[in-house]
Amino acid sequence: MLIDAHAHLADAAFAEDLPEVLAAARAAGVARIVAVGETLEDARRLIALAERHPEIAPAAGLYPTHLDPGALEAMEAFVRAHRDRLVAVGEIGLDRWAVQDEALLARQREFFLRQVRLAAELDLPVNVHSRSAGHHAIAALVEAGARRVLMHAFDGRAGAALEGVRHGFFFSVPPSVVRSRQKHKLVLALPLSALLLETDSPVLGPEPGERNVPANIGVALRAVAELKGISAEEVARATTANAVRLFGEGVLGRCG
Ligand SMILES: [Zn+2]
Repeated sequence: MLIDAHAHLADAAFAEDLPEVLAAARAAGVARIVAVGETLEDARRLIALAERHPEIAPAAGLYPTHLDPGALEAMEAFVRAHRDRLVAVGEIGLDRWAVQDEALLARQREFFLRQVRLAAELDLPVNVHSRSAGHHAIAALVEAGARRVLMHAFDGRAGAALEGVRHGFFFSVPPSVVRSRQKHKLVLALPLSALLLETDSPVLGPEPGERNVPANIGVALRAVAELKGISAEEVARATTANAVRLFGEGVLGRCG
């Protein structure tokens, strides 16, 4: 039984065939999918989808390239109003690749920290994006005293990640690990007790440019097993237990 800790099921890439995508995930052993949102529209859609599809565990947050103060206020109100339906605040974070203007980066950091503080206040974990900003994001989270943290598809150095591990942060590994030396190094450097599995569907699949789906989580699972020199069963057990430690028992859903 596996948990996909980060996927974009509200994405247009799944508008046509979401039931089939979810059935394939179930067949691949995925019990639950943490579905992150990037906007208020995503958040509303995910809450509605979770009504119909119990394997969807919805999260809500404002993505780091959305820097409109009104959108942040609306997101904060939404998260408060739907706290009991959400398993995490995300996808939030820092992105120093898409945003490079200093004033906008300062605003991005402020929006990130406001959502981190909101998550702490509501006792929800954060699902964090940190493109070209791994060290910055971890330092900001440590400074904010964040405790329930998932760094997704971390693209920074293993040394920066280990600083996160010392603070109890978790790191999720996507199927693109099979084509990334940086992710190989990360998996080798981090303890199994800090790892979760994710797909980041519809991106970060095993083949660049091809739509990624939660059923591909086995690619990440087998890559971690191979790199760590342990069985896939052991990786499955550990990563699911880690997901429960981070998100709580609720992440297992009704079948848990
Ligand atoms: Zn994502």
